[in-house]
Amino acid sequence: MEQTLIIFKPSAIERALVGKVLSRFEQKGLIITGMKMMQLSPELLKEHYAHLVDRPFFPLIVASMTACPVIVMCLKGIDAINVVRTLTGSTNGRQAAPGTIRGDFSMSNQANIIHASSSPEDAEVEIKRFFRDDELFDYLPAKMPYLYSEDEL
Ligand code: ADP
Repeated sequence: MEQTLIIFKPSAIERALVGKVLSRFEQKGLIITGMKMMQLSPELLKEHYAHLVDRPFFPLIVASMTACPVIVMCLKGIDAINVVRTLTGSTNGRQAAPGTIRGDFSMSNQANIIHASSSPEDAEVEIKRFFRDDELFDYLPAKMPYLYSEDEL
């Protein structure tokens, strides 16, 4: 089963949207395997957003992502990476489809509520970046037969 990394950005923390967004993941049937609060540093953000370091708006990313602590979370499920990206919606909240997290809660390209891993390769690296092995929990909830059919597991 895949695992994916979510960051509740300062826009989610400050606007007290963590519960609402988390309940969407829980309702969908994704399994929480790790969760903690932390303060991001510019150094960690340079690593995490390495593909954007040279963009003119990168200092704005650092400023907004370090404005307050964030919550990082690991979610598990079949095809979890794509499922979570679909629930998240496109980057700019103003263009994200209604019904998605960014489409429903964000008006911004930057203050767009959550980060979600975009590929299996990214997810693997990102989970290791934010979680030690002993902070992740490999369990299956009792409701598994009601989340998936036998042939999917
Ligand atoms: P996503 O978060 O949808 O995977 P990217 O990896 O392209 O998107 O960008 C990472 C983050 O950088 C975005 O979520 C957003 O916070 C910020 N960002 C991307 N493009 C812009 C932009 N043009 N202006 C401001 N912030 C941006």
